[in-house]
Amino acid sequence: MNRSAVDVAIIGGGISGLTAAYELQLRGVSAHVFEADSRLGGVIRTDRFDGWVIDGGPDALLVQKPAAVALCRELGLADRLISTQQPRTAYVLREGSLVPLAQGSFLGFPVSVAALAMGSLFSWGGKIRMAAEIAIPRGDGQDESIASFVQRRFGSEAVDYLAEPLLAGIHAGDVDALSVAALFPRLVEAERQSGSVLRAIRALRVTPSTQGAFVSLPGGVAELVETLAATLPSGAVTLSARVTGLSSANGYTVETERESVNARGVIMCAPAYVTAELLRPIDPSLARLCEGVPYASTATVAFGYRRSQIAHPLNGTGFVVPRIEGSPLLAATWVTSKWPGRAPADCALVRGFLGGGRDPHRLDAPDDELIQTAREALTEILGIDGEPLITRLYRFPRQSPQYTVGHLDRVAAIEKRIAALPGLFVAGSGFRAIGIPDCIADARATAGHAAEFVRAT
Ligand SMILES: Cc1cc2nc3c(=O)[nH]c(=O)nc-3n(C[C@H](O)[C@H](O)[C@H](O)COP(=O)(O)OP(=O)(O)OC[C@H]3O[C@@H](n4cnc5c(N)ncnc54)[C@H](O)[C@@H]3O)c2cc1C
Repeated sequence: MNRSAVDVAIIGGGISGLTAAYELQLRGVSAHVFEADSRLGGVIRTDRFDGWVIDGGPDALLVQKPAAVALCRELGLADRLISTQQPRTAYVLREGSLVPLAQGSFLGFPVSVAALAMGSLFSWGGKIRMAAEIAIPRGDGQDESIASFVQRRFGSEAVDYLAEPLLAGIHAGDVDALSVAALFPRLVEAERQSGSVLRAIRALRVTPSTQGAFVSLPGGVAELVETLAATLPSGAVTLSARVTGLSSANGYTVETERESVNARGVIMCAPAYVTAELLRPIDPSLARLCEGVPYASTATVAFGYRRSQIAHPLNGTGFVVPRIEGSPLLAATWVTSKWPGRAPADCALVRGFLGGGRDPHRLDAPDDELIQTAREALTEILGIDGEPLITRLYRFPRQSPQYTVGHLDRVAAIEKRIAALPGLFVAGSGFRAIGIPDCIADARATAGHAAEFVRAT
């Protein structure tokens, strides 16, 4: 066995682990990243070949949460940030047809009465119920599911056609299980402060940004991973190094199949269930709390076509599919309409999403069945003629954490126990950070605490 020592060991080389290593380096603290896979990035995966640029996982960085854009700027990528192309309309499948979400909506909720009245997604009964939200009394302040919150305030049509496909859908989750407080604190805060979500949104006077809400990079989101990894000293990352054991005595010892490394501090950036297994010998109660974070499995199927093969104008960013539509698709993005430079000339790239919390067994199917399922659904909805030019399937088994009702209490309990283990830190999407900007912000803050710990010991 090869014995070595490092200030901070980082378990997991996704965006969280890499950002933590970057931040530690800025603070003059040595760090080593152990990554189980043979590549960095975790769920961030971009394929580039023959003029196609395909993000299998995330494809967009939310501007409103500034940590990701700030990191890109810091890394010298400011000039490479690209905004979503116009039109940025998102659609919802209703009774087999794609219906645009109202212009000027906030998380899908129409901001003005005019936007609500003119939109064609909701029935008149549904619109009247949604407009009545301003008169609905406050809830009791307890955490509740997204479905429960939206049902209470906006009625059942808003749950079926908005909350379920859009709010729960972006987290690949089950609308009846996901926590509104953990995932949409602004909705909860709006109710608490103003007594009405619509009133609070109108008071904000949200004007649609000309830049769009999201940015990306010409080389796909993996460009951020590659640039970040390139800032780390050589030898600071070990690939194909699954951490199999963690023990604490005089600091921590991190075990992989090939080596054993001593570290003063450890930042766990792997999925919560992996963190649970590694922490079990150190603190079984903490391990039980960590394994309480459920995960959903999803697949992305990307298809490239000649533009002329698709009848639909693809005039927007894509669409979401409500559960009650009965389609196997969760959503689809029209990648070449959303971003420039993703396909050869006169070609279109579309991605379909399968699985998630509402369809937990979908990924049991073999690859060819998943591809066929996505292809048939997209062909019917978009009017596609003939065979795709290219097809890529990306599986994400147990890689989407589900912040279910009670998640914030669970994380508070985890943080309390972690505080009793000096030098041990958790970060990553399983706990306090859903989405890339939050992962970056959380990893930087956590690395800051780890650096303080190293300096103080
Ligand atoms: C399909 C999909 C689409 C998404 N779209 C978006 C989007 O458009 N915008 C956005 O902001 N967010 C999006 N997200 C969410 C976002 O990608 C994640 O929140 C974020 O990338 C998670 O990063 P992470 O580093 O915390 O975790 P991960 O990326 O899961 O990384 C964890 C790493 O730990 C490694 N690991 C596991 N076990 C061990 C072990 N024992 N030893 C060593 N290493 C180990 C894994 O191999 C992995 O590399 C999407 C997620 C998915 C799945």
